[in-house]
Amino acid sequence: MNRFAMVAMPILIILTGCGGGGDVSAPSGLPADAETAAEVITASALLETVTQIASDEMMGRGPGTEGDRLARKYLAQRLAAAGYAPAFGEHGYEQPMSMIGVTTELPENWAFRNGKGRKISLERADEFIGGSGVQQPAAVVDNADLIFVGYGIAAPEEDWDDYKGANLEGKILLMLNDDPDWDPELFSGERRLYYGRWKYKYEIAAEKGAAGAIIIHTSLSAGYPWPVVLTGWSGEQFELPAGDEPRIQLKAWMTEEASRRLVEFAGHDLDELVESARSRDFTPVPLGLSTSLDLAVALRETETANVGGILRGSDPDLADEVVFLSAHHDYFGIGAPDETGDTIYNGALDNGVAMAQAISVAEAFSALSEPPRRSIMVFFPAAEEQGLLGSKYYTEHPTMAPGKMAADINFELGNIWGRTADVTIFGKGKSTLEDVLADLASEQGRYVTSESTPRSGWYYRSDQFSFASIGVPAIWFKSGTDFIDRPDGWGVQQHAEWIDRNYHRPSDQVEDSWVLDGLVEDTHLGFRLALTVATANEMPTWYPGDEFEDERLAALAE
Ligand SMILES: [Zn+2]
Repeated sequence: MNRFAMVAMPILIILTGCGGGGDVSAPSGLPADAETAAEVITASALLETVTQIASDEMMGRGPGTEGDRLARKYLAQRLAAAGYAPAFGEHGYEQPMSMIGVTTELPENWAFRNGKGRKISLERADEFIGGSGVQQPAAVVDNADLIFVGYGIAAPEEDWDDYKGANLEGKILLMLNDDPDWDPELFSGERRLYYGRWKYKYEIAAEKGAAGAIIIHTSLSAGYPWPVVLTGWSGEQFELPAGDEPRIQLKAWMTEEASRRLVEFAGHDLDELVESARSRDFTPVPLGLSTSLDLAVALRETETANVGGILRGSDPDLADEVVFLSAHHDYFGIGAPDETGDTIYNGALDNGVAMAQAISVAEAFSALSEPPRRSIMVFFPAAEEQGLLGSKYYTEHPTMAPGKMAADINFELGNIWGRTADVTIFGKGKSTLEDVLADLASEQGRYVTSESTPRSGWYYRSDQFSFASIGVPAIWFKSGTDFIDRPDGWGVQQHAEWIDRNYHRPSDQVEDSWVLDGLVEDTHLGFRLALTVATANEMPTWYPGDEFEDERLAALAE
């Protein structure tokens, strides 16, 4: 119990029954006026904000565009109005950052030769896709040997090393997506860890000095079908400007069928290779094939910015510790028309609703008679849809030591369908933030659960991951799919239909059909979670053995 508990209790008893939106009383441990302050979080306030953010005037908030600039200005104004100080010193509420647009010209056909000079040729789009791994006018692979490296994972804490010291300099690594998933004791079983994400695969390939990497696509391991890979890797790709980190020349994906054809040409059987990879004793398998590529790469530099404001904590001993509330501000701007001729990608649910949540929580904090003990930073990262670029930039150029960041609570893709009995925690099983959230959810009469597709690795696909990767305990939660007074399966169906019709399309806009009482409840939950973390004696921690624990311990020791 913290120092607020004793004074808070009697007042909360009086307040019980006053909370709207199906809320039960505030939990013990929160400041006495928490419940009153939370009253600023309403459906009409959320709707008003998202209507502004997702309006046609914001032109879809494409990174580096005028709409991007307008959206940032709007968010900064809201933070200022709520009494938040600029988070970025001389730059005010904005942290400017450059992005590099990379467009790679891939050949129609990609040839591999065996030792006898015979060759096999694969077709672009139907069989492979990819792009340059370097920010140079050309990406060059020169007579590189192809080698199968299993999962391509080196994880000392799991006593797992697919490389076994093999020399991979200048080679092309062929590897499986995913991480070992057949044993609950290994890599968290079915739950995807970062080791199972394609980004990790390219990073480790670069660390090993490889020329390139090819990831074998399966719908099961990726969580999406081949056409999604194709869309994602076609056209201009935005990145942060290259630093001195190791890079591979070529990042590629290959269909399972094409990979099968390729290894068969090399005299191997794909199923046998995959089977051999399912063991700690696996060693890399040279395939006796080589390949060369010389790809033209077009580069373009453009600017965007993260937006952030700070509410200084009231406890002199703890005010340097900061609780983050994040929600990305970018979307896809103006682009290809849909069947109605609409070209503006308004991004209402993705991610206007989440920004509205963050602003409402920000306002609830300012409505407290005294700020919480720790400081609150409301943070709107840029270019999330381009690969978490804004949050990555911030965590690489932070405004405080990572050990002073108490937690990140991320909002993304909220709920527009009504109240749910469940709260989904993405990548559940990581930190003590989840214990706090579970308690607070149960006070709302709700239960917490993990996402229905733990293999998809959603935890690594929004901005909470950037914070986690520098060790900061980070969580993304939202309403689940167990909708109150709706039949079984209704929620899953709503989500699926929405993804089908509106995800990353111009039709993601504010609709009259929206029911926001579930979103209100989630936002109350977000406020209470942030407030609990901001007032507790200790900062949250990763569960022992979590993949990010070492990073945190190092950050705290600094
Ligand atoms: Zn998003």
